[in-house]
Amino acid sequence: MNNKDLFRINVGHLLNQAVGTIREIDLQSPRVEIDSDFKLENFKAMVRLNRVQQGILLQMSCEGDTETECVRCLTPCTHHLSAEFEELYALPHLRQNQDADNYLPENGMIDLFPLVDEYMTMEIPIKPLCAESCRGLCQECGANLNSETCEHHPQK
Ligand SMILES: [Zn+2]
Ligand SMILES: [Zn+2]
Repeated sequence: MNNKDLFRINVGHLLNQAVGTIREIDLQSPRVEIDSDFKLENFKAMVRLNRVQQGILLQMSCEGDTETECVRCLTPCTHHLSAEFEELYALPHLRQNQDADNYLPENGMIDLFPLVDEYMTMEIPIKPLCAESCRGLCQECGANLNSETCEHHPQK
């Protein structure tokens, strides 16, 4: 299944339900490609759609693992990312007198991909470390001090 299908959700029929109706959807994918250098493995999401007066309130939590490189020792490492957010999708006819961030399209399909992209991207560590205690590389010879010793850093 490609990314686009996974993240497109039809909320049209929920609009015909009474205010207060809730629908929950679980999404799962072994691999989601956000863009060419940001991929999420073991992606899982819980989507909660709430029929509210103004339209649909979306509450979503998602998680996944991404590959980064430790800034100290340059070893590839995996980071678990998770994000929670909510967005209101207002009914199209409210467009004239409200200032909502999102409006429901006429066909009732909402696309969660841009939200997952936005919120998960914010979770990527700016300076990823393989471990808090990472000892990094020797400035002189480049030895990985987590796993080796060198003449500049003789073992204690
Ligand atoms: Zn490291
Ligand atoms: Zn060295």
